[in-house]
Amino acid sequence: MTLDAAPLADFADPALHAAGLYIGGDWLPGSGIPVLNPSTGGVLAEVADASPTDALRAVDAAHSAAAGWRATPPRQRAEILRRWFQMMTEHAEDLARLIAMENGKALADARGEVAYAAEFFRWYAEEAVRIPGEFRHAPSGANHILVDHDPIGIAVLITPWNFPAAMATRKIGPALAAGCTVILKPASETPLTAYAMARLGAQAGVPPGVVNVLTTAQPGPVTNAMLADPRVRKLSFTGSTGVGRVLLAEAAKSVVSCSMELGGNAPFLVFDDADLDAALDGAMIAKMRNAGEACTAANRFYVQSGIHDAFVAGLAARMAALKVGPGTDPASQVGPMITPRAVQKIDRLVTQAVNLGARLVTGGTPLPGSGYYYPPTVLADVSPQAEIAHEEIFGPVAPVYRFDTEDQAIALANETEYGLAAYVYSRDLSRALRVGKGIETGMVAINRGLMSDPAAPFGGAKQSGLGREGGVTGILEFMEPKYFAVNF
Ligand code: NAP
Repeated sequence: MTLDAAPLADFADPALHAAGLYIGGDWLPGSGIPVLNPSTGGVLAEVADASPTDALRAVDAAHSAAAGWRATPPRQRAEILRRWFQMMTEHAEDLARLIAMENGKALADARGEVAYAAEFFRWYAEEAVRIPGEFRHAPSGANHILVDHDPIGIAVLITPWNFPAAMATRKIGPALAAGCTVILKPASETPLTAYAMARLGAQAGVPPGVVNVLTTAQPGPVTNAMLADPRVRKLSFTGSTGVGRVLLAEAAKSVVSCSMELGGNAPFLVFDDADLDAALDGAMIAKMRNAGEACTAANRFYVQSGIHDAFVAGLAARMAALKVGPGTDPASQVGPMITPRAVQKIDRLVTQAVNLGARLVTGGTPLPGSGYYYPPTVLADVSPQAEIAHEEIFGPVAPVYRFDTEDQAIALANETEYGLAAYVYSRDLSRALRVGKGIETGMVAINRGLMSDPAAPFGGAKQSGLGREGGVTGILEFMEPKYFAVNF
């Protein structure tokens, strides 16, 4: 990997940003994939482009390390994860700057991500020593049922660019705690954070081959080669629903266990009896964390008629006051989008909604310059037929729709193939819970704009995914239950 020394020169620890493919504990030099800085459009670095042959070498390395890691006592696995948590915490500022550079998110968001990401190592250090089992009497009374959990085997982990640290630790933490070895393929746009974290992991004591990291410009052939190798038993993917479907089909060929964290289209419901200021505070977090580039981002605001106009005015005032600028500038509250293509998509969705009668309350035009900037935007009176109501926006745009009754709100919220997250604001807790029960998502935030928590089961219903990450059940995604039929 070659690096543009200028933008990275002020990093406290230069070892954090010198990397190539990381296989079997060795750093293999390579090039071919430029990493851009979305704040400027400039090239930050160039990373290796792994071939399917490289990927199979990573499987070899993960296989060589598997027996030793599986036999490592849970307490020792836990202590390594705990040290990795500490190292991420000690290097939090370097990692946050790296994320702000390659992803473009505002430094405050990047710092928040590093803290959140590190927590998965702490949480799974604590869970590694609590792997559950079962002992039951068979209903006949004659026999016993004993259930143990084994590490599932080598896991391929594929992550997106929007949370380059947290999406990786949310998978590596439980996999290592369970006793699995892994191959991480980070997104091509944001590989530097993954490589930096791998360095910290090695310093924390992760043995060679337990965590391997590779970047590639051919994600399809590279992943297919790994999935076809019978030693690979797990695929854990976070990314778009479209790619998730392709990977599920590929994994089916060798019946590889899949966990899928896919796209979202979160509704944000505000009832007349909501605390308006609290709802606006929550809306800003749910919409603008990561500049809207989050799977849980509020994508559709449904606001009851009595509070609608005040909500739109309050939201527009707050959105218009945000400062847009380079991710690494501490004054920026909203960074650039990840690519020019992302800006074009947002622009297309907004233009189409306006053509169908939506009212542009603030924002609405891409910002000029070399970075990929789109301004915080509020649309009111949006037609439910507009594409923006059905597609993931993945940007700083808040479309507001009006509703009258609770049943109508639930029906509108469920009008999507996605089912990841939903937000409900009401002072009436029984109503909020009733509405939450009626919404077909894996997660519901009530009077809160943020739901992510390493101690909670994160994941989606419908076409937003399969399985859960985090919480006490997250480790089981990387374990195979083994039932012993026992006759004493
Ligand atoms: P993406 O295009 O699906 O890419 C995700 C990852 O898959 C990247 O590493 C990508 O590699 C890789 N990939 C692409 N095509 C592949 C193929 N044929 N075989 C194997 N791997 C392949 O998604 P994205 O644009 O990076 O991320 C945004 C999406 O992620 C949104 O839909 C968002 O909602 C979702 N997301 C979901 C969650 C959740 O927890 N549910 C969390 C965060 C994001 P390259 O970068 O090399 O193309």
